[in-house]
Amino acid sequence: MADQSSLLNRRGLLFILSSPSGAGKTTISRKLLAADGQIKLSVSATTRPPREGEVDGLHYQFVSNEDFDRMVEEDDFYEWAHVFDNRYGTPKGAIREALKEGEDFLFDIDWQGTQQLKQKDDQDVVTVFILPPSLAELRSRLEGRATDSGDVIDGRMARARDEISHWAEYDYVVVNDDVEQCFEKVREILHAERMRRTRQTGLIPFVRELME
Ligand code: 5GP
Repeated sequence: MADQSSLLNRRGLLFILSSPSGAGKTTISRKLLAADGQIKLSVSATTRPPREGEVDGLHYQFVSNEDFDRMVEEDDFYEWAHVFDNRYGTPKGAIREALKEGEDFLFDIDWQGTQQLKQKDDQDVVTVFILPPSLAELRSRLEGRATDSGDVIDGRMARARDEISHWAEYDYVVVNDDVEQCFEKVREILHAERMRRTRQTGLIPFVRELME
């Protein structure tokens, strides 16, 4: 799709998708990454051991507890949190520089991470919360995953209620009743947010030239 990016410089944005586990956030993230060449995934660091098929540096940066401690101490994280007995964090790394070049980053993080990220860089952050159509549907989606035991599912359901209680802290809320429709809405939000005047850093020189 043609847009203004070839004409005007813009600052990138930090696009956050949050939802309770099982509400479809991962599917929506994957579809967005496949459909849009300007946004890429921010790779989190975690102390959780890799699951089958997960690749270090691609899905997560898998680090030891000691490494994580050091990164916290050196202020290497935009945000970090304890989630299910492990720690997860967003390394600042290349993100700061890439934003200036107009690159966008997608974050699949929970409400705790979202609050911290907004605290550190509110102007670049756009937040979207994805709700399941019902809790019964959420449970059945979690049960459909062969990887998790009953206890784990109960734990995730309890956590889902906690996560959902933070819906009002988000800029946008989308109900994932139909994954295609949900995806389209999320995509429209991203497109509109890119057009925000304050992100279009090339506007002043552009308009100046226009008026000459
Ligand atoms: P999983 O272990 O299933 O990959 O992820 C568990 C939870 O950790 C998910 O709800 C995910 O959103 C959250 N998570 C993953 N990376 C980060 C991160 O960098 N920061 C925070 N705060 N949460 C994260």
